[in-house]
Amino acid sequence: MATNIGVIGTGNIGSFHVRTLSTQVSGAAVTAVFDVDGERAKALADDVGARAHATADGVIVDDEVDAVLIASPGPLHPQQVMACLDVGKPVLCEKPLGVTSAECLAILDAEITGGRQLVQVGFMRRYDPGYLQVKGALDSGQIGEPLMVHCVHRNPTVPPSFQADMAITDSVVHEIDTSRWLLGEEIVAVTVLAGRKSPHARSDDPQLVLFETASGVLVDLESFVNCQYGYDVRCELVGSEGVVNLDGPGLTAITKSAARSTAVPADWRMRFGPAYVVELQEWVDSVTSGVYAGADAWDGYAATAVAEAGLRARAQRTRVEVDLVERPTFYPGPR
Ligand code: NAP
Repeated sequence: MATNIGVIGTGNIGSFHVRTLSTQVSGAAVTAVFDVDGERAKALADDVGARAHATADGVIVDDEVDAVLIASPGPLHPQQVMACLDVGKPVLCEKPLGVTSAECLAILDAEITGGRQLVQVGFMRRYDPGYLQVKGALDSGQIGEPLMVHCVHRNPTVPPSFQADMAITDSVVHEIDTSRWLLGEEIVAVTVLAGRKSPHARSDDPQLVLFETASGVLVDLESFVNCQYGYDVRCELVGSEGVVNLDGPGLTAITKSAARSTAVPADWRMRFGPAYVVELQEWVDSVTSGVYAGADAWDGYAATAVAEAGLRARAQRTRVEVDLVERPTFYPGPR
């Protein structure tokens, strides 16, 4: 029997997930959708044989929905995740889990009270073959002890709705999660520096972010959301015995007219498309088995707490320590 999925928010990534679930994930069927843009939701629902609801709650309480995928704007996530927990339904929430750590802590409380894991957060880089190779090189001991990580995260452009804070809460949050996941430890302090601003940017961009982990690993990141040329994500992990580099996918090179050129992914879909398929397949399998390996609510909370510290660091132009609550034993911590 297929797992019936309800999807809330059918914009960029929500519609992408609906199509992926309907065509590339086995054991899943999208049966219900909701978007404030009712026509958009209805057109997509008709395409995949689902029902378009008039409200998000309609999707969540629908008897023909076993699990919910939330892809609405970030500030709506906590309320929608809580509604799923209220009716005991598994939920895959796109990042961020919440915009404030207080909202995320309320989700942890509700999940712990329910007594079983229901929440997964959409940090899909954990399923990318390149990032998995970086983690494999570290975990196997090949490059010795981790000392530093150098990251680049460039987006071609951002829409007019993109607010200054979103560079940290929506974009840098990916490196927050990958750093915690790769290194298996928490980030304890953040510094953010903005220098000369791109003429294409409305707010500080690019920015340099520095994370310090509990064991003292330094992670630096160039966050540049208006780089113009493509979607470019890189990661170099420096160990005591060697270095592992992730320069992006090996796209085919063309040699012509005395030049050799290699494509750069145009956007996140092209770069991480395969990772979303694996993420959704594993989540659907987890809904059936009740055993989850993806980012959990603690990971979502920790990422938001670090992002919050990053916002303060940027505003105060100083190093800010991350204020995490003691981790409940319900959650295994970074892994
Ligand atoms: P988007 O294109 O703006 O889509 C969000 C959709 O939700 C829009 O159709 C929006 O409608 C709709 N919406 C607004 N209010 C709603 C409500 N109350 N209930 C349900 N839907 C509502 O944004 P997006 O780029 O898809 O991003 C959505 C979420 O996914 C964000 O949290 C973002 O950070 C995350 N995301 C994650 C990744 C990743 O790599 N993991 C990539 C992209 C996005 P209107 O347009 O009419 O307001």
